[in-house]
Amino acid sequence: MISLPKTSFEWHNVISSKSMEKTQKNTNDTKNMKKKKPQDGMARLSDVFREYWTSMRSVRWIYLVIVLSFVISTFLMSVMTPLYLKDFFDVLAKTGTEAAELQASVPLLMHILFIIFGLGLSGALLRRLGAYFDNYAYIRVSTDLRERAFAYFIGHSYGFFSSNFTGGLVQRIARFTRSFNNVTDRLFYNIIPMIVRIVGIIVVLTFTYKLLAWVLGAWILFLFITSYGIARWKLKYSLLTSEADSRVSAATSDALGNHTTIQLFGARGHENNRFHKVVSDYARLWRKRWNIDIFSDTIYALFSVVIHFTVFYITIKYWGQGGVTVGIFVLAQTYILSLNEDIWNSSRIIRDMYEAFADSKEAVDVMKLPHEIQDAPNAKAITVSGGTVELKNVAFAFDQGNPVIRGVSLAIASGERVAFIGPSGAGKSTLVRLILRFYDIQSGSISIDGQDISKVTQDSLRNSISFVPQDPILFHRTLMENIRYGRLDATDEEVIQAAKLAHCHEFISSFPQGYDTYVGERGVKLSGGERQRVAIARAILKNAPILILDEATSSLDSHSEVLIQEALDVLMKNKTVIVIAHRLSTIKKMDRIIVVNHGTIIEEGTHEKLIADNAGMYAKLWSLQSGGFIQGEIE
Ligand code: ATP
Repeated sequence: MISLPKTSFEWHNVISSKSMEKTQKNTNDTKNMKKKKPQDGMARLSDVFREYWTSMRSVRWIYLVIVLSFVISTFLMSVMTPLYLKDFFDVLAKTGTEAAELQASVPLLMHILFIIFGLGLSGALLRRLGAYFDNYAYIRVSTDLRERAFAYFIGHSYGFFSSNFTGGLVQRIARFTRSFNNVTDRLFYNIIPMIVRIVGIIVVLTFTYKLLAWVLGAWILFLFITSYGIARWKLKYSLLTSEADSRVSAATSDALGNHTTIQLFGARGHENNRFHKVVSDYARLWRKRWNIDIFSDTIYALFSVVIHFTVFYITIKYWGQGGVTVGIFVLAQTYILSLNEDIWNSSRIIRDMYEAFADSKEAVDVMKLPHEIQDAPNAKAITVSGGTVELKNVAFAFDQGNPVIRGVSLAIASGERVAFIGPSGAGKSTLVRLILRFYDIQSGSISIDGQDISKVTQDSLRNSISFVPQDPILFHRTLMENIRYGRLDATDEEVIQAAKLAHCHEFISSFPQGYDTYVGERGVKLSGGERQRVAIARAILKNAPILILDEATSSLDSHSEVLIQEALDVLMKNKTVIVIAHRLSTIKKMDRIIVVNHGTIIEEGTHEKLIADNAGMYAKLWSLQSGGFIQGEIE
């Protein structure tokens, strides 16, 4: 399959990055919101909960204990305790004012008081127990969620990471685990107690004061239908705010990552303005969402006043007919107060749940998006002995755009050294990325030692190729760890040996911390040439049968280049080598030079053969260069 952004998620990302520039132009909120339709994203609520459940399954018994402890504690404290309070006040109301009667009521009142005390104590202890297990389970589950999200994210393709902001992706993972906490907190501390209270109170009232049970039941139903409607209305604003928040993070990381460029171009003002627009868009949505909250809270406040009034109105009428006791008044008052709090909170709870859903959805979208490059079913590891590389009629285009590689056929023999040359944008880097299967081709085939690369495992394919990129990016880890990335089980001695061969040892030894020096984010504390030598040391350590050098010596000074060239000569021995170079002097001794232009091979042969062809591009380039670089597009 071809890795084009066909999915809504990929298009969404393409659109989001563009919309960073455009959002400010969208002054009409409603129109803008209708256009974006965040609900049309890939993940649904059920997908989010399925992801949660996958991580929760291993501790499901702990969750059972948590649910039980919250159910029982709420029942004891919110349903049972008011019943004994009712008895307490009924005893008080029935007791006359005579001393003997007062004296006689004390043991009964004490008895009820101790029951209330026991209920309160056991309820509180059970709740603490639930909270303790909740903390334990939360840490386990959120750790697992984070690890699973990370493992899935990191499995996405080169193309995916080229079109998504790292900062935005980092935030998606962080929000995913945080939102799980919000969901479980709301569930255990609000939703479960609320359900227990509603069911318990309605059941108790059915036996003690039926009319009130009906009134409260109808009121709760009405309120929930209203809450649901309001919450759904608010959801789209929650999702939009969440997306705008991601755009702010992405813009922050994009600008901070480019701080050198910003300073070089004196563009701080420009960046501040650009950032202001993204943040203003977020603020606008945020304000809108909070206004909606205030509006819905006002509705709930009105409802609560009305129900209070209605219940007391009815109860006083009943009282007049001798139908209720003082205890019933106390019971109705206590139940209404606690239910009132629940209903009052329900809009916030629903909102929090939806927000948590919106936050998680962003990560689950990425987790539901199939990896663009996947191992074929039952793919086997590639076995590379000779290292022949064959491309047959290969065609490729990015993002359903114009073809970048057009019907390239090429056979590289085992141990052969070929150089790709051609003007900038000709498709040289794309060709080697296709050999590494960073992208899937649209037609044709690529095989190594007769094995189609789309049918073998990606790990085995990339393990048999050493690739030194144009601008190597390093981990913010020590130099020892960075070089060892070439072969993770290499000993310190082997790492140092590779570093010596790549002429890294000299500069590494000059650092006070030597091989334990941290190289800064993306390796910024090293010069371009030093980073490149580290990448070459990795390749030496990896010692794969196929070697691809993309401008591998472009960042080196002449002295280093001579040294590196020696190391590369050793490294290239008995290997199939593909070099992308702009400096013709470095590729003169290659077995074959392949000239690429506009995604096709236009010439190939040895240096001598190509030079002999006076009308060819290579000959033209050679005459233009005196050991320099290819300049721009040559037609
Ligand atoms: P250079 O010598 O400057 O590195 P090149 O010959 O290696 O150039 P490629 O990097 O292969 O050229 O790019 C070939 C074409 O593909 C260019 O027009 C480039 O703009 C386009 N291209 C490269 N990467 C992407 C991408 N991720 N999405 C869309 N188009 C891309």
